[in-house]
Amino acid sequence: MSLVLVSTPRFGQHTTPPGHPERPERADVFDAVADAWRERRGSVVEPRPASFDEIRRVHTARHVAAIEATRGRAAMLDMDTFTSPETADLALLAAGGAMTALERVLDGGAATALALVRPPGHHAEGDRAMGFCFYNNVAVAAAAALARGLSRVAIVDWDVHHGNGTQHTFEHDARVLYVSAHESPLYPGTGAADEIGEGEGRGFTLNIPLEGGATDGDYQLVFDDIIVPVLDRFGPELVLVSAGFDAHRSDPLAHMRLTSAGFGRVARSIAAVAGRHAGGRVVAVTEGGYELSALGASLDAVIRVLAGDRAWLDELTVAAPTGRGARAADRARAAQSAEWPGL
Ligand SMILES: [Zn+2]
Repeated sequence: MSLVLVSTPRFGQHTTPPGHPERPERADVFDAVADAWRERRGSVVEPRPASFDEIRRVHTARHVAAIEATRGRAAMLDMDTFTSPETADLALLAAGGAMTALERVLDGGAATALALVRPPGHHAEGDRAMGFCFYNNVAVAAAAALARGLSRVAIVDWDVHHGNGTQHTFEHDARVLYVSAHESPLYPGTGAADEIGEGEGRGFTLNIPLEGGATDGDYQLVFDDIIVPVLDRFGPELVLVSAGFDAHRSDPLAHMRLTSAGFGRVARSIAAVAGRHAGGRVVAVTEGGYELSALGASLDAVIRVLAGDRAWLDELTVAAPTGRGARAADRARAAQSAEWPGL
């Protein structure tokens, strides 16, 4: 099975103030991961910038103008979201990286693609930057897939933070199933189990808030018991992934206990869903992940899985569930019972 990585060293040029966790060194990890994939004769392609038309499917013209106005200078857009002179260009390139990955999978013969991008995207709302994010990269790719005529697109967001921007973009839209497993309580504070979508989109937002301390076993339980069953009923034509790695046990921003193999296991569950419904098509886009060695090792695990190498996970012992996963799955099941009967 073919996997394409989307990567460019340019993502290191988006700089943030000293001590900021979303720092340029994260791009060095992406570059090392891409180099290792090239050495294995894997395919690595450069991202293209997103067009303003593509961005405006998700963001208001006023928001785009606000980001463009930071071109060439440093600006603070919220308490923890800062531009540097190159940021306006690189935000377009990050969203375009998601587009390049999408195009490789829809048109380019790749089964799976992983865009190694920063700045991240899933907190960016239609009308504002937020939480280190400027444009919502995965939402731009999902909107493009809809514009091309797809009518069932799943977005699975395993970043430890809730993807408020992605949820809000599609919560009225039954064509996009947004699924998030995230720590709660934690930034940004959204993503309660009873946020299940609005109007025609009711049932097409699935939130799994988890208490801090959840293990690989808890995540596996949540995927097996609720995420995969809902995805199977939805029957996606394409699966997008907001691939954050800040639920890793070493990450400084949260309190989860996932290992790098744990990310491999959730990727395997998603790839299996894609295999059953979507011709195996998975487009993953990076989000958070702030401990550099954990970020690299977790990306390696996901790359192995997306490239079709999955049996190695069976050799590893899975950390026992703690009850956090079961409680979270029960809450989500209760909230969704009217929309997905018999779950
Ligand atoms: Zn995050």
